[in-house]
Amino acid sequence: MKLLVTGAAGYVGSVCAAVLCEHGHEVVVIDNLSTGNRDAIPSGARFIHGDVKDLAASVLGEGGFDGVVHFAARSLVGESVEKPEEYWHGNMVTTLALLDAMVANRVNNLVFSSTAATYGEPVTVPITEDFPTSPTNPYGATKLSIDYAISSYAHAHGIGATSLRYFNVAGAYGMIGENREIETHLIPLILQVALGHREKIFIFGDDWPTKDGTAVRDYIHIRDLADAHLLALNSNIPGTHRIFNLGSGDGYSVKEVIEMCREITGHPIPAEVAPRRAGDPAVLIASSDKIISELGWSPSRTDLRTIVSDAWEFTRQLRDKAHSAPR
Ligand code: UDP
Repeated sequence: MKLLVTGAAGYVGSVCAAVLCEHGHEVVVIDNLSTGNRDAIPSGARFIHGDVKDLAASVLGEGGFDGVVHFAARSLVGESVEKPEEYWHGNMVTTLALLDAMVANRVNNLVFSSTAATYGEPVTVPITEDFPTSPTNPYGATKLSIDYAISSYAHAHGIGATSLRYFNVAGAYGMIGENREIETHLIPLILQVALGHREKIFIFGDDWPTKDGTAVRDYIHIRDLADAHLLALNSNIPGTHRIFNLGSGDGYSVKEVIEMCREITGHPIPAEVAPRRAGDPAVLIASSDKIISELGWSPSRTDLRTIVSDAWEFTRQLRDKAHSAPR
């Protein structure tokens, strides 16, 4: 297939674009490099630098596209609370421009990168796709609103679309992993402590109603996540918008993640309890039964040890590369 992949300089987008290239697809990337890394875009892809909202119409207007995989988005919860306008424009307005360009150019196959933040605070876990959606921050609200837009475009214009609601994506795929300028995610932050780039990790709250008092999340390996995108692209049904959760179905507490990182890295990783982070739910665990039964998704890297080991291998390689680069 000839595919437009937006946001393929980011962590999730770059791994998915690499896997799409490996499967023989022709990949055209649009990315404005606002948060991504140019180096993460697979060498086999054609890269067009700029904003999706400005470029989608002309790029899809070239013709020959069979589908779109849409990752380009702002994705920091805290930032979305402080600067909602950047999220509504960057996520919602951008996606509307992309959908318009798809309709105008009769491209009717879409996979959309969505999030568990569309659900908000869950009443029970595991979370299934029919849970109430009540996002607790503008980031989740933009992603949920985009789902409504996709549904109506799909039905009106015959687009086959899938939204994949990710839980906590982690791990690495070879030399592609989490390498953000501003890092807020737990595993890469802990690994920065192991590298000696940070003194300690802060545990955001140890008074949650969980097994050890720290928050519990469902970590999914980036490579398993990428496979789900391939399955979705290959099975989209014209005029239908499907929504699937993507997680491993297991919950690990912050303390358990730190302990696993200590084991894998051999570093003591000092930790200090800090206040809870605003907007954090106590527990987020996915039910991925729907995508397993409907699309035959079969994640093979679900244990935390593999996820942390792959992330650590990537982090060390990145450090070695930085050390060997000419100064
Ligand atoms: N967390 C933490 N210390 C950190 C970063 C994260 O205790 O320095 C906690 C955070 O409060 C949440 C979990 O780790 O309970 C996972 O956070 P992350 O930012 O990785 O993903 P999120 O669940 O927010 O999408």
